[in-house]
Amino acid sequence: MSLNASSRSAPPAMSFSFHRPGSLDAAIAFAREQGDAARFLAGGTDLIIQINRGRVAPRHLISLDGLGLDRIDEAATEYAIGAMVTHDAVVNHPGFQTNLVALAQASAVVGGRQVRNIATVGGNIVNASPAADLVPVLLALDATVDLRGLNGTRSMPLDRFLVERGRTERRPEEILTAVRFDKPPAASATWFLKAGRRKAMEISVICVAAQLVRGGKARIAIGAAASRTVRVPDAEVLVERQGAAAFREAGRIAADAVAPIDDVRASARYRKLLVAALVERALVACAGRIERGEA
Ligand SMILES: Cc1cc2nc3c(=O)[nH]c(=O)nc-3n(C[C@H](O)[C@H](O)[C@H](O)COP(=O)(O)OP(=O)(O)OC[C@H]3O[C@@H](n4cnc5c(N)ncnc54)[C@H](O)[C@@H]3O)c2cc1C
Repeated sequence: MSLNASSRSAPPAMSFSFHRPGSLDAAIAFAREQGDAARFLAGGTDLIIQINRGRVAPRHLISLDGLGLDRIDEAATEYAIGAMVTHDAVVNHPGFQTNLVALAQASAVVGGRQVRNIATVGGNIVNASPAADLVPVLLALDATVDLRGLNGTRSMPLDRFLVERGRTERRPEEILTAVRFDKPPAASATWFLKAGRRKAMEISVICVAAQLVRGGKARIAIGAAASRTVRVPDAEVLVERQGAAAFREAGRIAADAVAPIDDVRASARYRKLLVAALVERALVACAGRIERGEA
């Protein structure tokens, strides 16, 4: 099937062929054949905008719809979220309402309802925007990504997969099939906070995710504060050693560790202040949930 679209006001007219392969292997083989001329299409909420703005001009769009990547699987010790799972499905998943609530919190603030209905978890990760809302939560969960290519599937920590803005370790023909993470213990909590200039349909000025396990690990991840979403290992270690007494200091360490930009949304200085405040608040929220048995 071939689709042609054009816009009266935007000069670069879109022109591409739309492909709907019958299997993952067929999609991978076609992507390999076409190289840079092809892009995988999930919900299209990042990609179509990039095409419309003339940032990329693929001749072939390869749909990932209908290839079995839209399931959330729960095993005894882990969850696997398929790459084509929508943000709306994450928001409504029963397993993500207690100690994994940060997943639902982050997906709930991606765009508006129409965007969340079609935009996917895989697209949020592969697009590699430093402001992608779900990514800090997945980093805080020590998530692993599964990449299927010509020679089968390889896995790697999400932290290693993300290189910098718009760049990942994915080979051009590889499909991100799923993101996996261990089920957290009962006495643990996650929390996600996002600061923007308004509450809805807003890209993050800063977003923060935290995970705390009672008497155990602490994880802190920050979006929109550097060229990629980052964890703050120094702050995590301090919280693991000192607990609640170190929450404020962890915020300060996190603010020192990031290198935000000045742009139309916020100054770098304001972003650092937000990082310090939101990291502390996210940790306090996690500790409170564990304390109250809400986790
Ligand atoms: C109005 C609007 C508001 C938005 N607000 C937010 C927001 O608040 N927070 C936020 O984080 N994002 C926001 N976004 C961005 C976007 O909706 C999300 O990043 C979304 O998760 C992208 O998913 P998608 O399925 O649409 O990806 P697509 O646009 O289909 O794909 C994005 C990129 O990833 C590649 N890709 C997708 N899936 C795979 C895969 N499985 N394997 C290999 N490559 C793949 C594509 O080739 C493309 O390069 C917004 C977008 C719009 C249009």
